[in-house]
Amino acid sequence: MAKIEDFDFKGKKAIVRVDFNVPLDENGNITDDTRIRGALPTLKKILNDGGSLILMSHLGKPKGKVNPKLSLSQIKDAVGKALGKDVIFALDCAKAGDLAKNLKPGEVLLLENLRFYPEEEGKPVGIDKADPAYDAAKKAMKESQKEFAKTLASYADVYVNDAFGTAHRKHASTAVIADYFDKDHKMLGYLMEKEVKAVDNILNNIKRPFTAIMGGSKVSTKIGIIENLMDKVDNLILCGGMTYTFAKALGGKIGTSICEEDKLDLALDIMKKAKEKGVNLVIGSDCVIADKFANDAEKSVAKATEIPDGWMGLDAGPESIAEFTKVITPAKTILWNGPAGVFEFENFTTGSRAVAEAIVEATKNGAFSLVGGGDSVACVNKFGFADQVSYVSTGGGALLEAIEGKILPGVAAVEG
Ligand code: AMP
Repeated sequence: MAKIEDFDFKGKKAIVRVDFNVPLDENGNITDDTRIRGALPTLKKILNDGGSLILMSHLGKPKGKVNPKLSLSQIKDAVGKALGKDVIFALDCAKAGDLAKNLKPGEVLLLENLRFYPEEEGKPVGIDKADPAYDAAKKAMKESQKEFAKTLASYADVYVNDAFGTAHRKHASTAVIADYFDKDHKMLGYLMEKEVKAVDNILNNIKRPFTAIMGGSKVSTKIGIIENLMDKVDNLILCGGMTYTFAKALGGKIGTSICEEDKLDLALDIMKKAKEKGVNLVIGSDCVIADKFANDAEKSVAKATEIPDGWMGLDAGPESIAEFTKVITPAKTILWNGPAGVFEFENFTTGSRAVAEAIVEATKNGAFSLVGGGDSVACVNKFGFADQVSYVSTGGGALLEAIEGKILPGVAAVEG
């Protein structure tokens, strides 16, 4: 695999898989351009070297059909502004051969939404999985996916994957395309390199003590990560809504708190495994309870196992916060995924804020801290701490799969 830093793009056409899946309002205006800004180091390096750019991305879920509401033409000007260049737009990503051919050094071509073609995702459309003809349709689709990837590859001399958000997908533009470039002409972009390095710090390059904080609503969606981390962490904090599945499993009274009744055995199993592996499992002992699921609910504090009928736990209590802070502050490696309470309600942000503050403190003292996976990113942004942790991941599902220990197809395709 080539390295972007060492590669000279002078006179080369680079096709770059970016993640320009930005949120748009009803008028097609970008409401958050983080993803565009995230791609700039890679894009600027290529242009500054004297190369030309062919940018490809998906936007939303058009499910293999053209949908003007999800056209990347809506973001063309924003990309141009960010790069300080005019951007040429290809109305059909699979018929951009001539535009690509005529591209001169320093020029930028943006392809229309890749997912307007079902070949991008490689899933057969209009046929149910239960249909006996499904397997044949899937096989045929895989063949057309290769053709689609080959067409995209034909536009350029070099392939760069900088879309971490889709790295866990084996799509035409994220993985299959890499087969059409030799090892010296495919590489990860800077953003991808940073993400991969951050995950490596958490999984393989651990400085101890290692504290992971897993929060959010459900234990079932985090189980893969919890299991993988169990072999690596010194302290595992489980907080947020999943607290109550554990409290119930221990025979506690949890009122109307969120609970996965069918995961009580799983909760007991996690506690058993933690003991066997010598992991310090920290589940908050108290919580802030509310008489309804609302910001203006009546509030009180209770033991997590002694919640009165009609009340629900919506945030970590003061004792829990002290317990969390005790194992976060001295940590040297930290992973945070999932809030410690319903942080969307202003009156129930204390636990999540305390977790964020302890992570910031530990980071100041030399810890490597990775925050990632949807809502915890929203938390650090909301509290204004994003630049005080070591790394905030841009990848939701991709980050979670990487931490589960899965190989990301988007990384493997380039490295392989
Ligand atoms: P997840 O997507 O599983 O990481 O869950 C994130 C969501 O969990 C956020 O929307 C939080 O509001 C929610 N959450 C955190 N703590 C609780 C709780 N105690 N009760 C209900 N939802 C919670």
